[in-house]
Amino acid sequence: MFLEFEKISRSFGGVNALSEVSFGVQAKTIHGLIGPNGSGKTTLMNVVSGLTGPDAGRLLLDGRPIHRLRPHRIAALGVARTFQNIRLFPKMTCMENVIAGQHLMGGRALFPRLFRLPSARAEERQSVANAMACLAKAGIEGRARALACSLSYGERRRLEIARAMALKPRILLLDEPIAGMRLREIEEMETLFRSLVESGVTILLIEHNMPFVMRLCQRITVLHFGQTVTTGAPEEVAEHPEVIEAYLGMKSEC
Ligand code: ADP
Ligand code: MG
Repeated sequence: MFLEFEKISRSFGGVNALSEVSFGVQAKTIHGLIGPNGSGKTTLMNVVSGLTGPDAGRLLLDGRPIHRLRPHRIAALGVARTFQNIRLFPKMTCMENVIAGQHLMGGRALFPRLFRLPSARAEERQSVANAMACLAKAGIEGRARALACSLSYGERRRLEIARAMALKPRILLLDEPIAGMRLREIEEMETLFRSLVESGVTILLIEHNMPFVMRLCQRITVLHFGQTVTTGAPEEVAEHPEVIEAYLGMKSEC
């Protein structure tokens, strides 16, 4: 398994957000993470990216334990993410947002940049070109010079995806990436995610849009009250009695 959760637990006060969650994510697949609101999906993603340390359990990336590493170390191993509550620099342009992400997470050497050495200038040119390519893949290259705060909701989500892609991740964590998008945007994201997987990226996807999840994911894990209900192929998961029950209960919440 490329990413392996081994009995991951995490509580906040009296709330068991995650209780002994175990499942594996195969390399170069899209793995869905579904469950009602409050079932622990975002917390699990926070554990992967290092924002939240687990109370117990292990998390292995390519066989290597990463659950004690700090977020920038995990990012350096090729883990990038988007946030359910979009996190952008609103007064910076789209291009600047993507480049800032590369600098914050990429751990570029400061010395050549401080002294404006040719190597730093070449690197800057490269990061601008890379940022533009990622904006284009996300379908918002025309907005490169627009302020992030001027974007539509769907465009903001696409900017977050572009910023994550610019880090050239091995695994991309997407927390409700198409929430609030229009149908055409959703179709574009579907094409984009498929092409990322074809180019070797692994995707862990949290999403409430069931048809989207069912079409796109090779495997799906269902969480309920912080526990793993099941992990399986979309058709297996859709027929699972506890999933049907959880989702009938979920309709009113979403
Ligand atoms: P989901 O993403 O599936 O909606 P979350 O992972 O956001 O669920 O939340 C799981 C549970 O953990 C919820 O009960 C939530 O209130 C709680 N929780 C998550 N993060 C925190 C936190 N930082 N402090 C306190 N409680 C939290
Ligand atoms: Mg969430």
